[in-house]
Amino acid sequence: MTQEFWDHKYETLPLREMKDLQSKRLKKLIKYVYTTNKYYHKKLTDVNITPDSIKIANDIEKLPFLTKQDLRAYYPFGLLCTPLDDIVEVHASSGTTGKPVVGPYTKNDIELWSEMMARSLFANGVRKKDILQNAYGYGLFTGAHGFEKGAQKIGAMVITIGAGNTERQIDIMRDFGSTVVACTPSYCLHIAEVAKQKGLIPAKDFKLRLGVFGAESWSEEIRRTIEKRWDIVAHEHYGLTELIGPGVVSECEYKKLHINADHFYPEVIDPSTGESLESGQEGELVFTTLTKEAFPAIRFRTKDLASITEDMCECGRTLPIQSRIKGRSDDMMKIKGVIVFPSQIEAALMQVAGVSDNYQIVKTKHGDIYSLSVEVEPLEERHKEGHLDDFEKKAENEIYRILNLHIPVHAIPPRTIPRSTGKAKRVVERK
Ligand SMILES: [Zn+2]
Repeated sequence: MTQEFWDHKYETLPLREMKDLQSKRLKKLIKYVYTTNKYYHKKLTDVNITPDSIKIANDIEKLPFLTKQDLRAYYPFGLLCTPLDDIVEVHASSGTTGKPVVGPYTKNDIELWSEMMARSLFANGVRKKDILQNAYGYGLFTGAHGFEKGAQKIGAMVITIGAGNTERQIDIMRDFGSTVVACTPSYCLHIAEVAKQKGLIPAKDFKLRLGVFGAESWSEEIRRTIEKRWDIVAHEHYGLTELIGPGVVSECEYKKLHINADHFYPEVIDPSTGESLESGQEGELVFTTLTKEAFPAIRFRTKDLASITEDMCECGRTLPIQSRIKGRSDDMMKIKGVIVFPSQIEAALMQVAGVSDNYQIVKTKHGDIYSLSVEVEPLEERHKEGHLDDFEKKAENEIYRILNLHIPVHAIPPRTIPRSTGKAKRVVERK
């Protein structure tokens, strides 16, 4: 494959030069927040940090963490480091578990975001000739806007359809000849399901060649299902409203997740002690935005679990490589002493012949203890065949093989689980 880069210099910067750049940017950042924001000033002063305390990038370990609770406490604009006048755009998380997290942007922040998204999409293989169907939800959520800005910067055509209205989605995809689709992985599978119901063959009747996915955790098995069903290449994106939105981490053509470390300084810590972990060790991801103006995040604890290495990638990029997200520490369940992530159950289910990609993990609370069961839809053909106890038994065995746990699996009729146009609800809690 030919080596092509959006920004050759920074994507292939030798490691030592990258460290120097990060050190320089971190020093500037600490001086900036120390002098412009009361909250950051106090937070740093409380632990005896002044701008002079930061000399090299590794000094970052002296700095206190930033948590979601901090962001909520200073909702909506308490952490701004610029006058409100300089803000030109604002986004926010859904805030389903409390006050939303607010992402304000200056003009320079918007330029940075567009640049990071262009770099990421270009690494995925998006080019000027492409037509990108943007089926992320528009609105306050960062997703759709980030993909639009990046694709336009490359010069691709963006169809700003947003999420939902799946029948229309399919018509537009055919009529306009979309070559790239951007949405959640579960919604992409739902579009395929509806296309099939309309008598179309997703792999044959469309011009799609790439899918750029994010906003939800998905297993390699679901990736393969999407790629096969649509005959496309599927790429992962990772980002957070607290950092900038999408554009922090994305895949090259070898499906390695590269971190845009010239602007987002990554760390991995032990989630229980807060101590920094070595390269390759799995822990909680922590990011510092090195160049954002409106709201710089310093050592933001993401609660997402992954590892980072600085191995050389076949693509030629020197940007550090992040593993796929194993799960959020919030999603981690402890069942009979065993740590369980929803992604592990998904990976097990996808091994079973005749399984569809629609399933739900049901958490039931008995006093202080949770038990788990799984409800899964077999494919229409498999459901009609009957003998579903065989199907359930196979699924239970696959789960046991991975987790060493007996988790009951129930086959339920096709199209029972509600479909989502955004993030799929994979874990439900029942009393
Ligand atoms: Zn690579």
